[in-house]
Amino acid sequence: MTEQGPQAAAPEVPRRNWSGNVRYAARAFHRPTSTDELRRLVAGNTRLRAVGSGHSFNRFGDTDGDLVSLAGLPQTVEVDHERGQVTVSGAMRYGDLARQLHTQGYALANLASLPHISVAGAVATATHGSGQTHGNLASAVAALELVTADGDLLPVHRDTDRFAGMVVGLGALGLVTRVTLDVVPAFELRQYVRLDLGREALDEALGSAYSVSVFTDWRTPRLREVWRKQAADQPPPPADWLGTTAADQPRHPVLGMPPENCTPQLGEPGPWHERLPHFKLGFTPSSGDELQSEYHVPRTAAGDVLAALDDVAHLIAPVLLVCELRTVAADELWLSPNHRRDSFVVHFTWIDDTAAVLPVVAAVEERLAPFAPRPHWGKVFVTDPVELATRHPRYADFAALLADLDPKGMFRTDALDRYFPR
Ligand SMILES: Cc1cc2nc3c(=O)[nH]c(=O)nc-3n(C[C@H](O)[C@H](O)[C@H](O)COP(=O)(O)OP(=O)(O)OC[C@H]3O[C@@H](n4cnc5c(N)ncnc54)[C@H](O)[C@@H]3O)c2cc1C
Repeated sequence: MTEQGPQAAAPEVPRRNWSGNVRYAARAFHRPTSTDELRRLVAGNTRLRAVGSGHSFNRFGDTDGDLVSLAGLPQTVEVDHERGQVTVSGAMRYGDLARQLHTQGYALANLASLPHISVAGAVATATHGSGQTHGNLASAVAALELVTADGDLLPVHRDTDRFAGMVVGLGALGLVTRVTLDVVPAFELRQYVRLDLGREALDEALGSAYSVSVFTDWRTPRLREVWRKQAADQPPPPADWLGTTAADQPRHPVLGMPPENCTPQLGEPGPWHERLPHFKLGFTPSSGDELQSEYHVPRTAAGDVLAALDDVAHLIAPVLLVCELRTVAADELWLSPNHRRDSFVVHFTWIDDTAAVLPVVAAVEERLAPFAPRPHWGKVFVTDPVELATRHPRYADFAALLADLDPKGMFRTDALDRYFPR
């Protein structure tokens, strides 16, 4: 067990989200330093909510009650060598966890594009990386420990009834103090960036390596960049790979942003946690001045989805910083956008202008509707709640779980009430 104690230089509870498009409306902000203090805070409260690292873009986590950060609790990393699992504090950032795991010879199977996010916050929204055989980050969760609405400590694990409903919990079922994740032996990857992919080769490209992301800008039907994160012992893609050319210098997904912020490319081998994310821990991820939306559709629909979006490309391009295409394997988690569906995932990094972006989000959703898109729970979407319920087969089961675990609405927020009316 590694005991680091409370993070010395950790920031106070954030007053707004990372992007700045949400200023938290909380009446009070808390940063307890022990689980007992956290439990007392809940027991003496009527409306309260956790905040992680604040990297979500919508108001699901925005309470008018009290907002509590768990980053002041002791940060622990406990590896169970026999089970192949690690138990960590919910507020720990993936980047900090990854460094500690790697020194012990372990890895997580996948990571998101940025290592700055907290484990509990990322899992709550089904955050994901890319890879046809890799589930989202929540699918690696083997157990959780929550402080429930009455202040009790509730451990749940894979064999627990309704566990599959509790992992992607939208922050609404309790405060996640500890998370147990499956680990794999540490491994090395190389990252190559290839330029100018034709759409006809998209599916092959996405399935060509451990984790693949494709970036485009909707200004032409061509796909601008392919980021291939491949096993270090595999040969580099050949010079004429799928009709692309090799990037001869490091790239940033957003044109004009510094490539120094990104993990090493050009085939330099390195540990999993310094290749799977696009962005380095100590640097600003992405542009920093942006909004994001993302939709999960059936993987088999990838070509048709891009063709459908062509109709609104002229609306997308002017408000877009970059579009990323990824894949995620199916899982069993109730509210996961990947529930029982291998997924093709279309992500938009928008300019930081809500008024200009929202009508385009609506137009994108209209074009995607025939593919039953499931939006990312942590990003901007405008889907009608009744419609969204039809796209998640276990939506009603989650609503019942919510009513059962939080009957008085301790963890409810206005956005949650809109999507899961009481
Ligand atoms: C630059 C950038 C890049 C991104 N890249 C990706 C990507 O590659 N893939 C992807 O899928 N997403 C991506 N995201 C989205 C991001 O991963 C999710 O929004 C994620 O939820 C953020 O985690 P967080 O710790 O910041 O959570 P927060 O935004 O702080 O909270 C998210 C939700 O979790 C709840 N929560 C937080 N902590 C707890 C806790 N301890 N207990 C209970 N509930 C809790 C909150 O109440 C809230 O509802 C990106 C975001 C940014 C800003």
